Amino acid sequence: MKKLLPLLLALLLLFSCAKAEPYSDTYYLMGTNCTVTLYGKKDAAYLPDCFSLLRDFESKISANSDSSEIAEVNKNAGLTPVVVSDVTFDLIETALALYEVTDGSFNPFLGKITSLWSEAREKEELPSFDLIEFYLPYADACYLVLDKEARSVYLRDENVALDLGGIAKGRAGDLLKAFLKEKGVKSALINLGGNIATLGSKPDGSAWVIGLQNPDAERGSWYERVEVKDESVVTSGAYERYFVLDGVLYHHIIDPETGLPASSSLLSSSIISKDGALADALSTAVFVKGAKEGMALLDKLDVKGVLATKDGEILRN
Ligand code: AMP
Ligand code: MG
Repeated sequence: MKKLLPLLLALLLLFSCAKAEPYSDTYYLMGTNCTVTLYGKKDAAYLPDCFSLLRDFESKISANSDSSEIAEVNKNAGLTPVVVSDVTFDLIETALALYEVTDGSFNPFLGKITSLWSEAREKEELPSFDLIEFYLPYADACYLVLDKEARSVYLRDENVALDLGGIAKGRAGDLLKAFLKEKGVKSALINLGGNIATLGSKPDGSAWVIGLQNPDAERGSWYERVEVKDESVVTSGAYERYFVLDGVLYHHIIDPETGLPASSSLLSSSIISKDGALADALSTAVFVKGAKEGMALLDKLDVKGVLATKDGEILRN
């Protein structure tokens, strides 16, 4: 036994020093590639559950699917309230709060207008500006009726539609983190098409290093890395979804004041927060507001951001 002891100790040391191997899975969900990375075989067993959760979330929230709860609410606009799941109700409540916090720069009621623009992107032709002008006044919180007791959502006019695309991936990351945390998982990296959520720190205790996408690859003028623990890093940029017509770039982030792609002073806005839904909504809102107003909002809310301006500057608070 005496002889065996050093050997056992050495083995123990070896095991405790062994690096937890990363295990990743990627699926195309919510209109983008979603990758979840967990560490060690035991935690990796939760990967299928993570994607079931994401699929379930998408099936409730998607504005594109005809059968989602959001689609049901939109179809019944001007007709009748729709009872929804807690996940959907909570997200609409959060979206409403952030609409108010951002003075409407984050506007989840733009559904009619964002579908005109996504159709335009598909066909690569301009939408009807008359229709955009017609729908614009309806993109307003005054048409939303939430009944907390009944968990029902009602849009008071048929010309209003919800689009939670500017906040959904952030919340999806939060839900995944909560699920994994409950299972005792300490480290996870969640990448939902560039919306990053981190659970805890890396298995070795160090911070996650997140590279911010170069928003203007042609110029290659900047590339930023941020270090986070248990936080989300969410980026909005004009380069994500767009089409070009007669030399003009039409992207997917809409200025709620005009109904047109926001003519922002920014190329991209990245927000860092423990609250992924907040980071997501703010990334969209700050992009719409531009450098000066956007940074003022982040300072007011005490939220961290990295903004890339069209002038080639990188602003941080
Ligand atoms: P993100 O990439 O997070 O900035 O979200 C952009 C998506 O949110 C778009 O594809 C639209 O579905 C939706 N959206 C566009 N403009 C806005 C806006 N001003 N407020 C809220 N959602 C928006
Ligand atoms: Mg967003």
